Amino acid sequence: MDMEPDFITLTVGKQKTIALIAHDGKKPELIEWCKKHAKILKNHKLVGTGTTARMITDRTGLTVKGYNSGPLGGDQQIGARIVEGKIDMIVFFSDPLTAQPHDPDVKALMRIAQVYDIPMAISRAGADFMITSSYMNKEYDHDIINFKKNIENRAETL
Ligand code: PGA
Repeated sequence: MDMEPDFITLTVGKQKTIALIAHDGKKPELIEWCKKHAKILKNHKLVGTGTTARMITDRTGLTVKGYNSGPLGGDQQIGARIVEGKIDMIVFFSDPLTAQPHDPDVKALMRIAQVYDIPMAISRAGADFMITSSYMNKEYDHDIINFKKNIENRAETL
């Protein structure tokens, strides 16, 4: 009998890896937000899409590891890191009033973040609430789909 659980518990450590992304029209807002919360952010690992990461690094003094630019695959790289369990939170100031050439990538990132139960803020108020949560200083357990069991089940039943 298969005793593997459907979900596995993953623990997010006290120090989080936070992905920072802003569409062009929202970059100034994200930079301001990073300045406002720099004291908290400097205790965590920061990554981001290429241009966003560079601009935050240049203008706030925080160190942000940059992936490719968003339209060139940066959102997909961040999605892949989520699947690997290497990103704990996302602050994504997307622009709801401007069409994006890489809209499918943006949707894919949001979807995979939901699959892996990654907290994501998509605007300033959400990000303010998230970054000041008491969970920022604590470990946090969450239940994630057991991907090994999921494959076993599918391979047996399909
Ligand atoms: P960028 O990408 O940080 O390289 O501008 C962000 C995005 O538009 O997804």
